[in-house]
Amino acid sequence: MNLAERTRRERAIEHAAGVVEACRKCEIGSTRTNSVYGEGDPCSPVMIVGEGPGENEDRLGRPFIGRAGELLEKMLAAIGLSREDVFICNTVKCRPTFDDGKRLRNRAPEPQEMQNCRPYLEEQIEIVRPRLILALGAPAAKSFMGEKFSISRQRGQWFEGPGGIPVIATFHPAYILRQTGGELTQMKRLVYDDLKAIRARLDEPPPAPEATVEQSSLFD
Ligand code: URA
Repeated sequence: MNLAERTRRERAIEHAAGVVEACRKCEIGSTRTNSVYGEGDPCSPVMIVGEGPGENEDRLGRPFIGRAGELLEKMLAAIGLSREDVFICNTVKCRPTFDDGKRLRNRAPEPQEMQNCRPYLEEQIEIVRPRLILALGAPAAKSFMGEKFSISRQRGQWFEGPGGIPVIATFHPAYILRQTGGELTQMKRLVYDDLKAIRARLDEPPPAPEATVEQSSLFD
């Protein structure tokens, strides 16, 4: 990627993050501490999409920095990638919460919140133009593959995402962390299979840019 293109993408991301920071389309835009736009390499071939920021992410304005983030980093390391090599974001950019009377607690994003945030996610995908998208967990996967998507039956399979970009889903690291014993071992095996499918895809030569009319008529 040339420097000018990298700079263009960095600026586009900075601008889009500012728009998200000012967004109040949902109530959670007012209850959050920080918006969590996403971070990473704007020229990465891999975009990772989680569900939504939790308490730690809300506090620091960065995605996947708690225990789930630690596991995500280990998952990436298993296929030779680091956090800095990928672009990480979420289906919603503000922490979805409910008040239990004592404090704000995490909850899953509402469909309307995901819909409100969708243009920001699609813009991110357009800016980064990754070679593939990894959706973490059922809500993120359903946001790409539709409501009928089953994470237990269809994880590890490739689907066509926005702009024709291949999307694959695996279990969310926070869900993996809740497993124990044999279930945990089994889940780790499945997740590793999914990660290997990603590695294999990245190891394929990137698709050649389409020939322009001028180029394709060179040898007429
Ligand atoms: N879980 C998510 O889905 N996203 C984060 O950023 C953190 C935890």
